[in-house]
Amino acid sequence: MPLLQPGEPPAFTAENLAGRSPCLLLCEHASNRIPRALGDLGLPPGEIERHIGRDIGALVMARALSRHLDAALFSTGYSRLVIDCNRPLSRPGSIPEISEETVVPGNLGLSAADRAARQNELFHPFHDAVTAHLDATPARRCVIGVHSFTPSYRGVSRPWEAGFLYASAGRFAAPMMEGLRAQGFTVGDNEPYVIDADDYTVPVHGEARGLPSLLIEIRQDLIAHDAAALDWARRLAPLIARAIASVTEDA
Ligand SMILES: [Zn+2]
Repeated sequence: MPLLQPGEPPAFTAENLAGRSPCLLLCEHASNRIPRALGDLGLPPGEIERHIGRDIGALVMARALSRHLDAALFSTGYSRLVIDCNRPLSRPGSIPEISEETVVPGNLGLSAADRAARQNELFHPFHDAVTAHLDATPARRCVIGVHSFTPSYRGVSRPWEAGFLYASAGRFAAPMMEGLRAQGFTVGDNEPYVIDADDYTVPVHGEARGLPSLLIEIRQDLIAHDAAALDWARRLAPLIARAIASVTEDA
């Protein structure tokens, strides 16, 4: 039985595909929507509204960045709790049975068919479309994933307003980190996370293609309201533009 029913939103949205920016934007944790067939995943009321369902503020900021930079953007249509589009399918966090401290009952004891439905209807369409776009558009020469992180994690508060997560793209990240620091912000350099075996976007769409790639993470309390997310996009756009120039202009 198909997972998505007639009338439900698509697995992903692609915007501004003809955008002239060399940079492709992704928002892999854009939505907290759950396919109707999965109900509320058995979560307590309100739990899906919390950050565990999506990256609060990330989609508003990503769309604004797409406009400011004239950059193509792919965003997911369903919650990371259904299937996380920034996790390899082989990792436990792909379809998380527990997210932070919250058990996700609807993800327990899934059959191979249940998993395959989420992979085939949500994960693969998103990443196949991104892959096809990058294959067909050699003008795309760098990749940025737009995310947000919680102000505290397991009771420990996080000092950074923004973080940049990268593997080999230090040169790409540097102008963005320096630009925010010059404005007085505390910036995480591969904080609050690092790119590791639980990542998908940077290793697959960036590193494997030889494209500079990173994730921008903004603290959720700073972009929870649309106006604030738009402010952050305005702040980041010129820094991203400078960083793009630094990796796409021949020295
Ligand atoms: Zn995220």
